[in-house]
Amino acid sequence: MQRTAIYPGTFDPITCGHSDLCQRAIKVFDKVILAVAIDTGKDTSFSLEERMRLAEAVLGGLDRVEVLPFEGLLMDFAAAQHAQVVLRGLRAVSDFEYEFQLAGMNRSLNANIETMFLTPAEQYAFLSSSLVKEVASLGGDVSNFVHPVVAKALQTIRRG
Ligand code: ADP
Repeated sequence: MQRTAIYPGTFDPITCGHSDLCQRAIKVFDKVILAVAIDTGKDTSFSLEERMRLAEAVLGGLDRVEVLPFEGLLMDFAAAQHAQVVLRGLRAVSDFEYEFQLAGMNRSLNANIETMFLTPAEQYAFLSSSLVKEVASLGGDVSNFVHPVVAKALQTIRRG
């Protein structure tokens, strides 16, 4: 049986923390689907098309990683993709409470799909898309934290 993990998120934009997680996950799963949320409940800086384009550019070199948009209930999407696992990233302690609630809710929606967590390399443990956007908007160097195509896209946001 093919082992598939769904890695859902806003990816606004994708950072090295996200791609670090994908690289780890692909060692464990046959296929990883990076699922980019259409309705995020928050105002995004990048459109869905742009978030997907950047994720594809960053992850394009990774065999067995696919980038897909999703809307509606994550667990419905995961089931439709025949995924056994929902993958989430855990950074500092602050992620834990929300992720724990989400995992519990998702299990109550579909008990056949497990949530699993991975932690990133330590240099990405404090990295978030929002922090990267804030630093970039103030003219800071984010090249250690995002792929060059994302750094370039962040410059357009800065100007725009
Ligand atoms: P969401 O809006 O669903 O939190 P994000 O795109 O911010 O979406 O993050 C998607 C997932 O990736 C979440 O599980 C988040 O905890 C995880 N994540 C974000 N940044 C990092 C990072 N630097 N290292 C590891 N996991 C991360």
